[in-house]
Amino acid sequence: MKPIYLDYAATTPVDKDTLNAALPYFGSIFYNPSSAHSLGRKAASAVERAREKCAAAIGANADEIYFTSGGTESINWAMKCALSDTNKKRVVISAIEHDSVFGCSKTLEKLGYTVDTVMPTLGGTITPQALKAVITPETALVCVMTVNNQTGAIQPVKELAEISHAAGSLFFTDAVQAVNSTGLDVRDGADMLAVSGHKFYAPKGVGFLYVRRGTGIEPFIDGGGQEREMRAGTVNVPAVVAMGEAIEKARSCRKDNNARIKLVSDIFLSSLESGKPIECDNKIDDVTSVVFDGVKGGRLAVALSMEGVCCSVGSACSAGSAVTPLALVAMGVENADCAIRFSFGKDTTEEEARLAAQTVNRVVKNLMS
Ligand code: PLP
Repeated sequence: MKPIYLDYAATTPVDKDTLNAALPYFGSIFYNPSSAHSLGRKAASAVERAREKCAAAIGANADEIYFTSGGTESINWAMKCALSDTNKKRVVISAIEHDSVFGCSKTLEKLGYTVDTVMPTLGGTITPQALKAVITPETALVCVMTVNNQTGAIQPVKELAEISHAAGSLFFTDAVQAVNSTGLDVRDGADMLAVSGHKFYAPKGVGFLYVRRGTGIEPFIDGGGQEREMRAGTVNVPAVVAMGEAIEKARSCRKDNNARIKLVSDIFLSSLESGKPIECDNKIDDVTSVVFDGVKGGRLAVALSMEGVCCSVGSACSAGSAVTPLALVAMGVENADCAIRFSFGKDTTEEEARLAAQTVNRVVKNLMS
């Protein structure tokens, strides 16, 4: 049996139109966009068109978009380089963030910052009230993701940004899991926002950081003058072109894709004979974690993979180590170590959803007996 891929939150395949848009920039238009000659200008124009598409998709200006190598780099940049404008020494992060945010927080602690953590509700939401309880006039930066990668929980970014600004803090959101299913709009208040191409049918290793005009951020990589002297290194032209195409397509196909994904997710979840899907106050259908009491998530993921269903315990970055998904622990989910994440994409078929659920039912029964 061909493996059934239910791990779209880990990564997505490159869309055909996206690939076609990028191909010329591997071949006939291979030039360096920083070259001053006419051929280099061709590549540079493609990069700038992609920047405009990325900006338009999130309600930003093109000069507020900086291309990076993906989500992790964008997060590192936002968290480590936006604090030099202030003497404030506190940072707030939510307890449901991606590992890259936790990693940056540890570095900030070593640099003398105090990191305060805001906890989610049982339904996976970081509420405005919870943020108000931890934010102080000393908080320089608040960091809450737009959509959680383990539960699909959507966060009230607009309200959280308002509270951050009222306290004199910057607000940064990791929107890596949000591009496909939700409409991002920086007019909701984020000062910085991180995006990664490979989560919305563009290639791996490309992303961008949005930085609101006037936000004092230091360059992340020193070297040449690329990205307006903020992020040196030759721009990955084909990947950036692909990302521009993919973000536009994500927007134009969002309604149809969301409807399809809801259908296959409903088929899958309603066909399960055991397991408790983690319910959220407000969530996307693309991602659902399910707890199978009595079966460790890591063990189940391996057994399912052997039977042709590919899903994961949590973030792909921590896959293999079979760690308990921290977002679920933070939400107070019982037996969070027995959770497994299923995530669906625009190519998931109804038949795959049914077959995968049957396989899960069989494998869980076997492991329990
Ligand atoms: N943030 C979230 C919520 C993610 O799910 C991921 C990837 O799994 C990242 C950040 C990291 O993005 P990238 O793989 O582009 O470094």
